[in-house]
Amino acid sequence: MTSKVLGSWPPEHGAVQAVAPHVEHLLAPNPSSWTYEGTNSYVIAHGGASVLIDPAVTDATHLDALRRRGQHDGRQVSAILLTHDHPDHSDGARELAELVDAPIVCFSPRFADEQPAHEQLIDLDGLPIHVLHTPGHSDDSLCLWIPENDVLITGDTLLGKRSAGVMGSLGELFTSIAMLRDLVGSRTVTALPGHGPDFDDVAGSVARVESVRARRIDQVRAHIADGNTTLEALTSRIYPELTGSRAKFGASTLVSTVEHLAGLSPETGIKDPRHRELILADIERYWQERHRRMAAASQS
Ligand SMILES: [Zn+2]
Repeated sequence: MTSKVLGSWPPEHGAVQAVAPHVEHLLAPNPSSWTYEGTNSYVIAHGGASVLIDPAVTDATHLDALRRRGQHDGRQVSAILLTHDHPDHSDGARELAELVDAPIVCFSPRFADEQPAHEQLIDLDGLPIHVLHTPGHSDDSLCLWIPENDVLITGDTLLGKRSAGVMGSLGELFTSIAMLRDLVGSRTVTALPGHGPDFDDVAGSVARVESVRARRIDQVRAHIADGNTTLEALTSRIYPELTGSRAKFGASTLVSTVEHLAGLSPETGIKDPRHRELILADIERYWQERHRRMAAASQS
C-alpha cells in the first residue's frame, strides 16, 4: 500500500511525519487484525496551540512523542480529541490528558470532559477546525474538517479503500458518509483515516462503503428469508471462517444490518413478520447480554 503524502505505507516506527499543513502523523504501536498496521494518531498545531487526536495506546513512548509534538516550541495543548471511544483510539487518553493538562473533547459520555456540539468550531489559535458528529461506525464517531488546508480527519467512519465495521446504526452511517461526500464536493482534500494511509477520493470511498453495506443487507435479507432467525445462525452463514471472539465481533456488526432491515417496510426489509419477530427477539437478547456485561465490567 502507498500513501499519497508519505510515499510508502506503513511509515517507519516512531516516525513523526507532516501529512498536511499544520498536521503531523504518528503510527501507534498497536498493529493487529483489528487495527491493520496500527492506529493513526495525529497532532494539529497552529500558532501557540495544538490538539492531539486518538492517543490509541497506553504505551509511554508513544504518549510522550505526542506530548512533545503537541508542546513543541512552547505550544499549549488545548484538547485531546477522540474520533470515538473504541479502545484502539481511546486507550491512553486519560494518561495523555493528565500529561499535558488538557481536557478530553469527544462525543463519548465515558471519556468526555467536554462534549462538543455537531459542527462546533474549535479555534486553534486562528485555525478553524469543524467538529462533525458522524455516527455509524459507533454512536460517538466524529470527523474533523479543516477547510483552510482541505484536511478531513475521518476516524473509522471512512477508511479509504478499506471498510470498518458498523457498531452503531447503519442508517446513521449512510447519512454520515453522504454528509462527508457533500461537504467535500469537488474540492481536492487530504483525508486522514483512523487506520491505513491517507486518501483523496472521498466520494469513491463513500461509494465503496455504500456498495459493501448494500451487498451485506441483501445477504442478510436472503438468509433471514431462508429461516436463519438468530444472530448465531446469521453469523455462521455470513462469517463461516470466524470463531470465538472474532465470531462475536462478526455478530456485533450484523446487529446494525438486522436492525436496519427491521426498520424498513416488508417489501424492502424482512418480508415474513414471524421471521422479523424472531430475529428482533434474538437481537433484544444480544443487547441485554451486552448491557449486563458492560455493567459488570464497570463495577470491577
Ligand atoms: Zn479503530
